[in-house]
Amino acid sequence: MMKMIDNHCHFEQLTTQEQQQALRDYTVVAVASDYQSSLQLLGLLSQYDDLHICLGIHPEKITHYAEFTLVAQLIEKHRHQLVGIGEIGLPYFSLSKMAADKQPEVFQQGLHLFEQFIQLAAKFDLTVNLHCVGESTWQAIACLDRYQIKRALFHWFAGDAQLVQAIYQRGWHISVSPDVMGNKRYQQQVQAMPISMLCLESDGPWPYQGKRGMPDMMRASAHQLTSLLNTTANDIIKISQINGQKLWHID
Ligand SMILES: [Zn+2]
Repeated sequence: MMKMIDNHCHFEQLTTQEQQQALRDYTVVAVASDYQSSLQLLGLLSQYDDLHICLGIHPEKITHYAEFTLVAQLIEKHRHQLVGIGEIGLPYFSLSKMAADKQPEVFQQGLHLFEQFIQLAAKFDLTVNLHCVGESTWQAIACLDRYQIKRALFHWFAGDAQLVQAIYQRGWHISVSPDVMGNKRYQQQVQAMPISMLCLESDGPWPYQGKRGMPDMMRASAHQLTSLLNTTANDIIKISQINGQKLWHID
């Protein structure tokens, strides 16, 4: 039987022991955050079966935006070894930490970086692993539409019903993070999502209730989802698996 797919994990940030443990039981789709982690993931790819990687620059890592050319060169050179581009998207949390008069300019820089990555995704027909938060998600969707992006995963997405519908109608997917186990507001948001579009992820090693995020937390997420979505954990795992295989061309 095929191992469960973790659709979004910062694999290079796990310890070697955690990496080995994770890949014993799971197939991992890893996302990069900058040039350095992109190089690390390429290195790890040659060490592990059941590891699949996306390269990109995390939209909240503003000081790394200038690495675009370097990361783009890696994407072009290694495109046949990649399953996607990510973690890419638009800045949100980092904007709220800066002076209000700085925010529009930085957001524009983020939007520009995003569009450059989307151009690459279109050119090389790569899936995108996305970080989008709040209303600016509409701008991300407009950009994806402009380049006719067919395969997209909105990781840990929690937005209003219209945004979820816009993502759903385009045949894109949303992955649910283990935050669903303890966050009431997130639970309500997930409850409004069509089951058929959902995937599971760890976003590891991001911590949940004090515990380092790991792929095995997807099982607890699936159990939590049974009551929220009125279905079985098995069905959720099955749907996530089908969507993950389709997104990343894993079989
Ligand atoms: Zn992430």
